[in-house]
Amino acid sequence: MATLEIELFTCRSDNFGVLLHDPVSRRTASIDAPEEPAILAALERRGWTLTDIFTTHHHPDHVEANLALKARFGVRIVGPKNEADRIPGIDATVGDGDSFDFAGHPVEVIETPGHTAGHICYHLPQDKLLFSADTLFALGCGRLFERPAEVMWPSLLKLRALPSDTIVYFGHEYTLSNARFALTIDPDNAALKVRVEAIETLRAEGRPTAPTLLADEIATNPFLRADDPTLRAHLGMEDAEDWQVFAEIRARKDRF
Ligand SMILES: [Zn+2]
Repeated sequence: MATLEIELFTCRSDNFGVLLHDPVSRRTASIDAPEEPAILAALERRGWTLTDIFTTHHHPDHVEANLALKARFGVRIVGPKNEADRIPGIDATVGDGDSFDFAGHPVEVIETPGHTAGHICYHLPQDKLLFSADTLFALGCGRLFERPAEVMWPSLLKLRALPSDTIVYFGHEYTLSNARFALTIDPDNAALKVRVEAIETLRAEGRPTAPTLLADEIATNPFLRADDPTLRAHLGMEDAEDWQVFAEIRARKDRF
């Protein structure tokens, strides 16, 4: 099994695009399809031809280019079964626990309802890759548009339970704002302070903060740390349920 090659790029205002390429079969998947010109430019840079789209959720900034890319390349579009009627051009629906093959690489589907009701993440266990889209960001998580905190918290726990050396690609460059917010929630976290400095340097140089390592998220992302005693004490919520602590953190971020 060859190592997958990855092309990361920014597009729209703050979306990340990601292409995944198997050099043996020459299959190339786009994780979501935020914007056709940016995806075409990324394909051109690498000399790749698009064969697949793995859709995470129905928001327009993740599916806008589905039909155009399907018309151009005849790509096969995989997407979430729980919002399949809102995914343009979908060919195959997948749900929690499903797995499929991408050029010899197993791809596991993890349902993470919260940001949308049917949001899915794609996990490639042998390649140690996670595509978390708008469920888990670097130092953040997606807004709760379609499901409440008591549903989103277990979704995040599913991702937290993956091997900590998993490399995480996510949907938006919100990291600097997330970092400043995280310091207000978890101000005594030494690992967080170190990480925020590294993020400030990256952004000052105009470089992307993706991908991230799951271990770093577990250590520093407040949205994965609602059960951390120090963080709970800081919020005065020692006796609350974990999901309630998560809900409070999410509500504070919405006002930040
Ligand atoms: Zn979204």
